[in-house]
Amino acid sequence: MKGMEQTVAVPPYTVQERVELPAQGTALIVVDMQNDFVRPEGKLFVPDAPATVEPIGRLLERARQAGVRVVFTQDTHAEGDPEWKLWGEHARRGSWGWQIVEELAPKAGETVIEKPRYDAFYATPLDHLLRVWGVGTVVLCGTVANICVHYTAASAALRWYRVVVAVDCISALEPFDLHSSLRQTAFLFAGLLSKGDGIRFRAERR
Ligand code: ZN
Repeated sequence: MKGMEQTVAVPPYTVQERVELPAQGTALIVVDMQNDFVRPEGKLFVPDAPATVEPIGRLLERARQAGVRVVFTQDTHAEGDPEWKLWGEHARRGSWGWQIVEELAPKAGETVIEKPRYDAFYATPLDHLLRVWGVGTVVLCGTVANICVHYTAASAALRWYRVVVAVDCISALEPFDLHSSLRQTAFLFAGLLSKGDGIRFRAERR
């Protein structure tokens, strides 16, 4: 049976004009900005993702300049991975589609987390690294808003990290999915929302 189309109201959530964060103690996590999701030729193209490359690039540059820890997640699968039963083949390790888009390519020494599931904490060293670095706040951007960004935000919040999501630096397949994810982040995770350009990193004065 096909589901009925329904119209629902989006409960209001607040998008902050500006969010200021200490450079030390904050990590920027760029989620799955890989060719398979961001390029039209990709296996699971998200049509709204290309428009996020520029604002993510600006956020990334500011984070780098402020000395904020930067983490890239990379969806990673191989033959026989159960996720391909759900989504079809995508993000095959070593393939073009698996690679992070060149505009946002990690620099030498930056951390790339290969992840097998939506949640970047699942079966990866992410939690360990954040704790070693003394990180208490994670800023999230990337794709897909209600899938890998959302479940990583959820997993961070459940571990008591403070969560900030850059609302114009995420993309989803449906507006409903994007809004419901942001509503959950604001309401359930007590997360902060702001446009990427509104997120500022404050260097500690010595
Ligand atoms: Zn996947």
